[in-house]
Amino acid sequence: MSDKNTKNEKMEAIVSLAKRRGFIYQGSEVYGGLSGTWDYGPLGVSLKRNIMSLWWKMFVEDREDMYGVDAAILMNQKVWKASGHVDTFTDPLITCGNCQSRYRADHIITDKEDYKIELENFFSRSKDIVTGLHLSESPFDYSEEQINSLVGIFGEARVPAHESVKQLEEYLDNHHKLASSYLGIFPRIYLSNKKTMCAKCGQCEWQDAQTFNMMFTTTIGPSSMNVLDKQIFYDIDKGTKKVTEVTVSQENIDNTDNTVYLRPETAQGIFTNYRNVVDSFYPDLPFGLAQQGKAFRNEISPRDFIFRAREFEQMEIEYFIDPANWEAEFNNWVSLVHAWADALGLPAENVHELEVPEADRAHYSKRTIDFEFDFPIGREELLGLAYRGSFDLDNIQREAGKNMAYVVKGTNTKFIPHVIEPSFGVERALMAVLSAAYTEDEVNGEKRVYLKLPEHLAPVKYAVSPLLKNKPELVAKAREVYAILKKKHGNVMWDDNGNIGKRYRRQDEIGTPYCVVVDFDSLEDNSVTIRERDTTEQKRVVISDL
Ligand SMILES: [Zn+2]
Repeated sequence: MSDKNTKNEKMEAIVSLAKRRGFIYQGSEVYGGLSGTWDYGPLGVSLKRNIMSLWWKMFVEDREDMYGVDAAILMNQKVWKASGHVDTFTDPLITCGNCQSRYRADHIITDKEDYKIELENFFSRSKDIVTGLHLSESPFDYSEEQINSLVGIFGEARVPAHESVKQLEEYLDNHHKLASSYLGIFPRIYLSNKKTMCAKCGQCEWQDAQTFNMMFTTTIGPSSMNVLDKQIFYDIDKGTKKVTEVTVSQENIDNTDNTVYLRPETAQGIFTNYRNVVDSFYPDLPFGLAQQGKAFRNEISPRDFIFRAREFEQMEIEYFIDPANWEAEFNNWVSLVHAWADALGLPAENVHELEVPEADRAHYSKRTIDFEFDFPIGREELLGLAYRGSFDLDNIQREAGKNMAYVVKGTNTKFIPHVIEPSFGVERALMAVLSAAYTEDEVNGEKRVYLKLPEHLAPVKYAVSPLLKNKPELVAKAREVYAILKKKHGNVMWDDNGNIGKRYRRQDEIGTPYCVVVDFDSLEDNSVTIRERDTTEQKRVVISDL
């Protein structure tokens, strides 16, 4: 317990430092914020870009077998249908009609076996009743007996509109399919039958369960006002048996042609360009395509600072291989992932491999490893490495009707390559870097906080200051040194606020490895004092040696 508290304190200290020193702010903070979004300040941008550039250099520029791509965020909706995201990147949500609390339907229904049995009973019984009704053309002409039967099936209200028994049977068939994924009318009926109460208000007034797709949708073109798909229902008053027509707008607008999604991952933008790159570059197998960029997920509960946000950045690679070699290639990527963690300055003992067991893996994956890191919030996923077989290219070949086969040069051998996918989250890498770097120690009897950032990641490499800012000759000399270093290293900061002690403290907190101070001796001997962040040691260095 005390360990957990210490860790949370550390997390809070990091979040507070990140805000105070201009790394990361809450998104739209000035307007009260927008949950699950974060804005990067001047130092945060630098740190993030340094991480992304390091990755690009390591996995693209320094290799012969890698090709970079940068696909559009908005993609043809067929991409997400083929990949399964439209159908399966969803959660079933059920709402309490009394207090509007929302629950995951598949979480609130705990006895899955019982649910399954009742589901089958309900739909076969309902179908028998509907078939036996011989309904007339208009629901306004239903007899009391017919109304009672329908109310028996659908509950007190909202009998679906239809023009024939056949249509009502189709409606039931569709809902049977939905209900097996905890969607539609049946979860409501089931919870009512079981007298399951809302945990918040204690009432039992459930609404139909709806899909909640984690993809953000928007629409292309000017007709976006009219895309809502509508369903007609008849409300039947239990007492008077009076029938009234109601129109219900469906939030689920997946069927409309002008819906587009903000991509929930960058990987599909790589797969859709596989053929293009093969045709332009004729790469030998194995080869990889890499992409960095924004992705979006409508998380129900974003949490833990930048760890789970609704808008985030990914760095993904699809590495195309001959399936015969998959094990060796996979093991090679395991080593490369560890090399990456090392380049980020993450202590090896805090990086863990979690073999995902077969039951938890996607059906097409023969092996998946989640790489976890000991964050202050606990051990959580840092990045993933998955062997995806030919699942994605198979889908594209089938759905787009384009040939995805790779022909081995100088032979007639052709096959659809298999894929190993290392998938890196930028914010998780950044949070791991901050967690590993955050250090407290004591200097001259005072508590000191500093970020032990690796030099190649630090947003500021050198801070340059004159010993006294009211001595023009010192300022002029320090400006000279600043200009030289700025030209050489780029990320150099001019800092003449407060006294030297305060400057050191500030630079320690943002992880600046070296502070350079120009004093009166500098005017004579052309040397400066350079102070090292981690050791706080100071030494004299000639300016031309910096
Ligand atoms: Zn409630």
